[in-house]
Amino acid sequence: MPDAVRPLRVAIVGSGPAGFYAADALLKNKTLPVEVDMFERLIAPFGLVRSGVAPDHQKIKRAAKAFERTASDPLFRLLGNVQVGVDVSVGELLELYDQVLLSVGSSGDRKLGIPGEALNGSHAATAFVGWYNGHPSFAHEEFDLSCQRAIVVGMGNVAMDVARLLVRRTSELAETDIAAHAHRALEASRVEEVVLLGRRGPAEAAFDLGELQDIAGLEGVDVRIEAAQLQPALDQLETLSAGDRRKVEFMAELAARPPKAGKVVRMEFLASPAELTGSGKPTELTGSGNKLSQVKIERNRLVERNGQQSAQGTGEYLELEAGLVFRSIGYAGVPLPGVPFDEKRGVIPNHEGRVVTASGETVRALYVAGWIKRGPSGVIGTNKPDSAQTAQHMLADAAADPARRGASREAIDGLLSQRGLKVTTYTDWEKVDRLELERGQNAGKLREKFLSNAEMLEALRE
Ligand code: NAP
Repeated sequence: MPDAVRPLRVAIVGSGPAGFYAADALLKNKTLPVEVDMFERLIAPFGLVRSGVAPDHQKIKRAAKAFERTASDPLFRLLGNVQVGVDVSVGELLELYDQVLLSVGSSGDRKLGIPGEALNGSHAATAFVGWYNGHPSFAHEEFDLSCQRAIVVGMGNVAMDVARLLVRRTSELAETDIAAHAHRALEASRVEEVVLLGRRGPAEAAFDLGELQDIAGLEGVDVRIEAAQLQPALDQLETLSAGDRRKVEFMAELAARPPKAGKVVRMEFLASPAELTGSGKPTELTGSGNKLSQVKIERNRLVERNGQQSAQGTGEYLELEAGLVFRSIGYAGVPLPGVPFDEKRGVIPNHEGRVVTASGETVRALYVAGWIKRGPSGVIGTNKPDSAQTAQHMLADAAADPARRGASREAIDGLLSQRGLKVTTYTDWEKVDRLELERGQNAGKLREKFLSNAEMLEALRE
């Protein structure tokens, strides 16, 4: 086929929501035929829909239905078990394809940067989320849940997920797709109290109202908030957005409720961890004893900076005993070799999805979508318009320059097989999916996930 009329060949790297929404926009466009090859380092697609959304939030996981429809398009292929940046470089993909879209998300986590952060018992919330969801990178993490109190730093929706999973009755999780190891560990957990630390006030908290309502509605769980901590926000209710006002009003309702027996989720505002200290044998890494036992917390006040309410330490401290700290202060993008990266923002610099260098020049044929484009914000649906924007620019660029520089699908497959890669397909995933559902049925739950690519390959061989 002459170059100008053959379909545009696009590689999408990453099979999470941003990648799938972009694939959908490209495949459905009416102006140009497009073939999509989606690369994924795991065998299971869907990114955070599979391994970020909590097991007790199955409704949100229904987003995968739309991705399944996209994957059924004959011009779509999944190339699973291939790690771009390791097995094949972005530079090679740019030679093999007409265009490359990176939708790799933000797989790193942000650090607090305080003494004691490396102690045993101090974890990234993202690791805990990956662990209970059976993500291959985190399935083998260990969390010592034998302590009475856990502290979660941050008040975003991830912090709410972590707090809820720590206090929710495990019988309510038994029939979900929670990883079996996590369910067992949570059944044996002795955590009675989770303290959520918000560095700013109730009016600035990042979580969505529904997430707090979820926790407040749990059987055997009491949400405690000190009325005095809410007062400043209540005093300025009329200046708040409708959403923030509803959140503050709901927190006031919770603060006024009589305490109920059971596990406790305590919300502490204007509070930042200053130091984690441990007990036990000191190690070079952790300095002061290797098992977390105490958290020093600094009280904050709000100050206005660039039109925003920011937290400022007051020099007043309190100490809380705790055996676990989860820092839930946001995800961070991880650089890909040979691709521009903005270290400060943790994203690939871009202009509406077109990748640009540090000096602002557009990198030909390279695009981004999702968290690696805009940072780790928004819910799953936020990625739909974000990916559509990038897809529109990709189609416009292809229309403006009809030459097709990429290689044939045979050349692409040839290179991957030359490297000895065991590339898996969407059909392979469908088999794995069926097997996981069967395993789940046998165990009286929705799904029992395989915990690694190796386990999935083994199951496919059998
Ligand atoms: P997030 O919403 O950005 O929340 C981060 C939290 O960490 C904020 O409370 C922030 O406080 C705090 N923080 C940041 N740096 C800190 C520091 N150095 N010290 C103390 N606190 C600090 O991030 P996220 O919870 O990781 O969620 C990521 C995205 O996924 C969000 O858009 C979220 O809505 C979405 N998500 C949605 C759901 C759902 O829909 N059910 C579930 C999970 C995640 P400040 O506000 O003061 O910066």
